[in-house]
Amino acid sequence: MNEKLKKTALKLEDLILSFDTPQHVYNKLMSLCQQQPDYFGYVGPKNVINLSLLLYSYKTTNSFELGEKMIDDSMFLFLLYSDGTNHRETCEACAGDGKIDCDSCNSNGETECPECDGQGEIECYACNGSGFDSDDEECNTCNGSGKLDCPNCDSSGYVSCDVCDGEGLETCSNCDDIGEIETDDWYYDIMSILTWNKKLIDKSVDTQQTLVPILNYNNYIEYQDNYIHMTYISDNHLDFKKGFRPDEVYCFGYSNYPKLTFSHDFSHIKAEGPYRHLSSYE
Ligand SMILES: [Zn+2]
Ligand SMILES: [Zn+2]
Ligand SMILES: [Zn+2]
Ligand SMILES: [Zn+2]
Repeated sequence: MNEKLKKTALKLEDLILSFDTPQHVYNKLMSLCQQQPDYFGYVGPKNVINLSLLLYSYKTTNSFELGEKMIDDSMFLFLLYSDGTNHRETCEACAGDGKIDCDSCNSNGETECPECDGQGEIECYACNGSGFDSDDEECNTCNGSGKLDCPNCDSSGYVSCDVCDGEGLETCSNCDDIGEIETDDWYYDIMSILTWNKKLIDKSVDTQQTLVPILNYNNYIEYQDNYIHMTYISDNHLDFKKGFRPDEVYCFGYSNYPKLTFSHDFSHIKAEGPYRHLSSYE
């Protein structure tokens, strides 16, 4: 193992206060990367990962031996996981509002009064609109105008729309007011990890790109001392092939020497992997 890297590790040793797991050390190193991107950009992403393992080794065993073995054994795995939650997408009919304009009132919330046809007045019932009573005198009820204020609309000519209760909007029947439609797709997460655990590596090599999981998600979490989580991409969705099961972790690729790059803000290290090669699952 590179002596220079060990010297760098010894220089950084005092900055690593939490070293329960390799992940803790790696996280601390990544926050140092963000603080000093120029220096760590020069050190390089591969060495930052190796430094994590060397520092973990040195802090826990007072020797680099364990770290060197971890580095030798390690492999990058590209993993896929879904909890089976259906992907929801914005309802096109209402653009996600859950409501659409009311057709009956042109979204005004009001319609013409059916009693007076929007006039605000109705024919006087006493004189049938003539303005005169049976004695040819001026009609008392309408004072000779032949018209009365429409009681149905308080003479405004308009009444509140029945269909939308005056809101001007109707419930979207496409999404039932929710604004989203459930699809057959499942949300899934992609993880890239570096592991030195032989069992995880062997299982991944044996089952990559198949519908055989490498392990259950709960077990995966229990194994977390055996890997460093490097990237986590969530909120993807896919209509999975029959036989794909929720809460299982699948391997869709592995690599000994992927191309490694720092993310834009030096917050994590990206391993170039077969991210788009999910065809065996769809
Ligand atoms: Zn009258
Ligand atoms: Zn009216
Ligand atoms: Zn309406
Ligand atoms: Zn809708």
